Amino acid sequence: MPIDPAPEAEPPEPPERHDHDSGTMPAETITDAGQGAASDDGAADPSRTTLDGTRGSGLDPKLDAKIPDGPIETAWSRHKFNLKLVNPANKRKYTIIVVGSGLAGGAAAASLAELGYNVKCFCYQDSPRRAHSIAAQGGINAAKNYRNDGDSVYRLFYDTVKGGDFRAREGNVYRLAELSVNIIDQCVAQGVPFAREYSGLLDTRSFGGAQVSRTFYARGQTGQQLLLGAYQALERQIQLGGVEMNTRTEMLDLVMLDGRAHGIVTRDMVTGQIESHTADAVVLATGGYGNVFYLSTNAMGCNATAIWWAHKRGAYFANPCFTQIHPTCIPVSGEHQSKLTLMSESLRNDGRVWAPIKKGDNRDPRQIPDADRDYYLERRYPSFGNLVPRDVASRAAKAVCDEGRGVGPGGLGVYLDFADSINRLGVGVIKERYANLFDMYERITGEDPYQVPMRIYPAVHYTMGGLWVDYNLQSTIPGLFVAGEANFSDHGANRLGASALMQGLADGYFVLPATIGDYLTGTTPVRTDLSAEACGKVEREVSAKMDQLLSIRGSRTVDSFHRELGRIMWDKCGMGRTEQGLSEALDAIPRLREQFWNDVYVPGDGATLNQSLENAGRVADFIELGELMCRDALHRSESCGGHFREESQTPDGEAQRDDERFSYVAAWEHTGAGPVLRKEPLEFTYVHPSQRSYA
Ligand SMILES: Cc1cc2nc3c(=O)[nH]c(=O)nc-3n(C[C@H](O)[C@H](O)[C@H](O)COP(=O)(O)OP(=O)(O)OC[C@H]3O[C@@H](n4cnc5c(N)ncnc54)[C@H](O)[C@@H]3O)c2cc1C
Repeated sequence: MPIDPAPEAEPPEPPERHDHDSGTMPAETITDAGQGAASDDGAADPSRTTLDGTRGSGLDPKLDAKIPDGPIETAWSRHKFNLKLVNPANKRKYTIIVVGSGLAGGAAAASLAELGYNVKCFCYQDSPRRAHSIAAQGGINAAKNYRNDGDSVYRLFYDTVKGGDFRAREGNVYRLAELSVNIIDQCVAQGVPFAREYSGLLDTRSFGGAQVSRTFYARGQTGQQLLLGAYQALERQIQLGGVEMNTRTEMLDLVMLDGRAHGIVTRDMVTGQIESHTADAVVLATGGYGNVFYLSTNAMGCNATAIWWAHKRGAYFANPCFTQIHPTCIPVSGEHQSKLTLMSESLRNDGRVWAPIKKGDNRDPRQIPDADRDYYLERRYPSFGNLVPRDVASRAAKAVCDEGRGVGPGGLGVYLDFADSINRLGVGVIKERYANLFDMYERITGEDPYQVPMRIYPAVHYTMGGLWVDYNLQSTIPGLFVAGEANFSDHGANRLGASALMQGLADGYFVLPATIGDYLTGTTPVRTDLSAEACGKVEREVSAKMDQLLSIRGSRTVDSFHRELGRIMWDKCGMGRTEQGLSEALDAIPRLREQFWNDVYVPGDGATLNQSLENAGRVADFIELGELMCRDALHRSESCGGHFREESQTPDGEAQRDDERFSYVAAWEHTGAGPVLRKEPLEFTYVHPSQRSYA
């Protein structure tokens, strides 16, 4: 049970603040790709080299996850009680930078300002409302159990740990499930128009990896409606002077002082001005890095620059290779494309996935009788059917297409068919549930999904990897916090559908407002001369990089490099990964990087709006991150979740984990001499690792 402090008492100094004592565990040094061996003296030995060329060390005191000991059900309450508080009158003395105004950043900025902190919020769009979160369609999970169908906080926790293929921290996941119920209350109070049933209760639908109906939604615009809620809260604080909002301002680097995050360097995207902003703590809520693949369902502007430069300044990057490939996207239609479109997972509530039984059967799908169809998800996974998790559904679609049974141009597609649901429920019900998605599909493909089955194929969608954070969402840089898709925290090797919005809002509305104060109580004012020197140095480095990009004047466009990187990443580090393919990628990417810095053409100058320049910086960072992703994927020779090493599969073609060797978070440290692998071991006390089964 949560502990209630006596009202007037100061919270006692907690007896043990860092309950997980990482120092008691043996250090390891990697001696071959992924194989751990204890070093002689138990100390980290970064000089030892792995077969894949990485230098590795074992446990690192910086990787203390600070998960509270004791029963998981009360861990968050006890932890909050043990966190130091900032007196209300003192909060206004602190400034917090929040980079990002999507669901995670918008919620954090509004909530921190509501508490009384001074907040400076940044985004690269012209309005916080345009953050990529607006694109989220399907819904948000919460363990409310309104349906009385057996849901609970524990079940959501269990489903998420299992869905992530036992590569997430139990403590974080339990807290996420616990906070899910508060999120819905918070958003309803803001006026978010969730769908309701006739009775007036909020409606829910089902998403993959769950046998209960726990996904709250607002038609196919859940992200937009939630973002409007967060945006209203943010605007209120902008009006009150609690938040200084900086739009069209891109963070290009992090300023460190005395080993702590001290501020950021930004570029004004309209005037080109480079300047610094300082604060007592910095929050990065800058979204995911799926665009490293060039083609993805992410908005075109999504990028990794903020987290990548924080990584270069000392924040460890965790599980960079954990990428989610979403099974239901509109297939690629040609070389001209720069973006892929998601068809929400919610469609699998009523759509049935199938492919022809016969290879090369190119009849009109409506002419293919049931006997000639393979409803392969229902056949292979009778318990979960079309609602298996994304990694499982994506691999199954690829397998069908690899067998030559794919449909549409190039044979890279399977059908998502609504005919049965339309017959059963009527077209009106289907329209009510999914009209905007059906319209979008028709506009893009020219085919009417009420009449003809949709054609879908997997596409890059989400990144489970991100900056390493502890239970307080603090990175390995003191004072640098990371929220939402930008951190690695809660989804392990595969995120369940409708859990990203839940995590971003949990981080922003509930976790950061509780944890940042604890850090701030330990900070001391910074000498202004030191601050100016630290900021000036980073500003000069950022300006020099811009000048260098503009001065190359080579022969290739930024996009051509991005497209080439994307092809390497998709072919070698996409749905199926092999030792050979990843080694080839690790040869090709450094060559591409060199070509980029010798031959890229960036038109215009730096003193105006210059989208090529913006893009060039982002692509330069993607190239470096892509290399780290391949290195991570190569060292993890097991399969888990969305990381499918073809060498490691069960006889049925499912991901085969190797818990003995890989039950850890891979946290990469940037050093001048290449990335160094650090490990945070994972412990499972409540949900015991087993071969995932959805059959
Ligand atoms: C098409 C689509 C549909 C989805 N549907 C669902 C769904 O139904 N349910 C679900 O749970 N999840 C869904 N997701 C995933 C979910 O939308 C995202 O994971 C989530 O919205 C990310 O939120 P965020 O706040 O972390 O980042 P974002 O919303 O991406 O916000 C990032 C913010 O950071 C700012 N930023 C980034 N870099 C910089 C920089 N260098 N300088 C300044 N500002 C910067 C941006 O301007 C922006 O404000 C979907 C994703 C996609 C692509």
